Amino acid sequence: MTSAGKLSLGCIADDYTGASDLANTLTRCGLRTVQTIGVPSADLALPEVDAVVVSLKSRSIEAGLAVSRSRDAEKWMRQRGARHVLFKICSTFDSTDAGNIGPVMDALRADSGDAIVLVTPAFPETGRTVYQGNLFVGSVPLNESPLKDHPLNPMHDSNLVRVLARQSQTKVSLVALADIARGPDAVRARLADLAGKGFGAAIADAVFDRDLETIGTVALDHRVSVGASGLGLGLARALVASGQVKSQAASATVEVAVGGPAACLAGSCSQATLQQIAKAEQAMPVLHLDPDRVIAGKDEARRALAWARERLAEGPVLIASSSTPEEVAALQSRHGRDAAGHAIEQAMADLAEGLVQSGVRRLVVAGGETSGAVVDRLGIPGFLVGAEIAAGVPVLRAVGFDGGGMLLALKSGNFGGPEFFSDALTLMR
Ligand code: ADP
Repeated sequence: MTSAGKLSLGCIADDYTGASDLANTLTRCGLRTVQTIGVPSADLALPEVDAVVVSLKSRSIEAGLAVSRSRDAEKWMRQRGARHVLFKICSTFDSTDAGNIGPVMDALRADSGDAIVLVTPAFPETGRTVYQGNLFVGSVPLNESPLKDHPLNPMHDSNLVRVLARQSQTKVSLVALADIARGPDAVRARLADLAGKGFGAAIADAVFDRDLETIGTVALDHRVSVGASGLGLGLARALVASGQVKSQAASATVEVAVGGPAACLAGSCSQATLQQIAKAEQAMPVLHLDPDRVIAGKDEARRALAWARERLAEGPVLIASSSTPEEVAALQSRHGRDAAGHAIEQAMADLAEGLVQSGVRRLVVAGGETSGAVVDRLGIPGFLVGAEIAAGVPVLRAVGFDGGGMLLALKSGNFGGPEFFSDALTLMR
């Protein structure tokens, strides 16, 4: 690993899965991308990369805290030479009148010295489009979509010019699709006009990827922008088209083999994962944990670890806590849902730690919460994103990890085809 050259793009993501989605999108566009867990230490050694996505958990915390964490992330990225910083928000603009999109945008704009910030949550490939400042989720306006009933951030207004104005200190206007369609110079002229009138932010309409490419091209004239993975795509394509970044195949950067023993952990009880475990039985030894014994104490994880150690030299193994919906419901009624979930996640983290101590350097984890518990326990500061095993599930190479070279695949429950575990291990050499 060399120390990093200048970053072409810095991204601050307001939640972890959004960060993964963005990192995956940037990688697909040819940017060598690292995703970090939280703001990295000043001395984190990075391989040569084009983009860093810092994952925060700042979407629904107090606005002041979201601002200070985002500023810390921005400072880190500027120190690494990032000229442009994207504040990555949800493509459904999840926020309230108290924030946190407006307050974070205001702070980053003030720090950057930009007169005006382009803002768009559009991500056409997932059905998020913006027209006349109104956000559509599929065919319906945001305020008629399921987001109207979101437990933390209910969205009752689809007009983002109004939504952002309520949570920002600055005046907010619109760059309408008619200007976007006329290309970058028309957008630049519109922004100059708005900035001259004292507007500090503009919602940009976007219906197709080419609209995001136009917005990305113009955004690169500025130091800060705000958007979802769609704007990430626009920025990445603009960086490649302008020659500022040489497009790379993701696999080339992650493909250096690490070798050594491999293991899989499954804590997801989703239908897809249950089917994948059944398939894996034909390809590798599988141990099914007894969930009641897991909750009772550490012995069950110790037993599983001993079982794995006896087999690792022969090939990959899979340890699963997963059960059917009926068994999950029964366990939860005996122990409580949170207590059961937490105990099993911690057992999975114990197992991951023990497996890595036993030499495992290729680890596949099924389950979103389960993956979070494992990554936290292993203390991995970040990942270089590689080729996709299945849609939305890339191979990850740990960076800044004390244990040396390590490959991971972190799969949210429902992702991947029936042969997911074997597919993952085929790519993780
Ligand atoms: P997914 O991505 O499918 O939602 P998660 O890992 O996010 O998977 O969530 C699965 C949750 O279920 C975790 O909290 C995990 O600890 C818990 N769990 C795992 N196995 C069992 C089981 N047999 N019974 C009840 N809960 C379980």
